[in-house]
Amino acid sequence: MQIIQSFLTNNDCYKSGKSLAVKGLMLHSVGCAQPSAEVFVKSWNVPQPQGRQVCVHAFVEPGKVYQTLPWNMRGWHGGGDANNTHIGVEMTEPVKTDKEHIKATYETTVELFAFLCKQFNLDPLADGVIISHYEGWKRRIASNSGDPEHTWKDYELTMDMFRNGVQQAVAGNGEVIFNNTKKIAVTNGDVFTDDIKQAMAGSVDVVSDIVKPDMTASAEGVSDWARKTQEWVMRTKISDGKRPKEPMTREEAWTMFFRYEEYRKNLPIK
Ligand SMILES: [Zn+2]
Repeated sequence: MQIIQSFLTNNDCYKSGKSLAVKGLMLHSVGCAQPSAEVFVKSWNVPQPQGRQVCVHAFVEPGKVYQTLPWNMRGWHGGGDANNTHIGVEMTEPVKTDKEHIKATYETTVELFAFLCKQFNLDPLADGVIISHYEGWKRRIASNSGDPEHTWKDYELTMDMFRNGVQQAVAGNGEVIFNNTKKIAVTNGDVFTDDIKQAMAGSVDVVSDIVKPDMTASAEGVSDWARKTQEWVMRTKISDGKRPKEPMTREEAWTMFFRYEEYRKNLPIK
């Protein structure tokens, strides 16, 4: 599974920037014949896609996840209270009957949900944690919609199967299984550490492509919200604090991890 961060920075939802305390994950299906997640990423990066106040956290196609909102930012996907508690993920749909697309998208979404369950300490089988839009409607926390079950009925897939698949992917002993072949030990350390470990182990390839964070500050200047961390990275010599708006290369990332580890090793023992 590859996660490509492509935040919808022009979308009104992203701009409103409300935070989300993640309690669950809601599964959607786009409801139209468009297999490419990238097409949605482009067409939703406007204030109101097709005049609607909508925004989700990710679009999934076979093998690829386009993350379109930070996971802890409130989305506009459920049309109800689900927006206050659930991350919203859309699966793309094939042009015609295409079992391969449906199956591969399903499997990639299972991986993504397992990843998110680990990140946010969610039990995939607990009541109301992983639900479809349709189940959200039945619970009166989402608008009236039949997705994704309406898409799955011809393929003998169900939400119970999906939840069980996620549960298996988050299999015991603190291990997460991705791609059915790779096992990565995940400690009970904090989320940030787990993320880095997984990214380093190569199971979750987090790619940043068109992320352009808030450009309201001047090109050289650092945004207000990042001032404190800029001071910290300079003081700890993890970064020189220059070029705050520039993207980071892989070698720069390695170096910063290395410097952070050096810094941490030298901390006085409490
Ligand atoms: Zn939906």
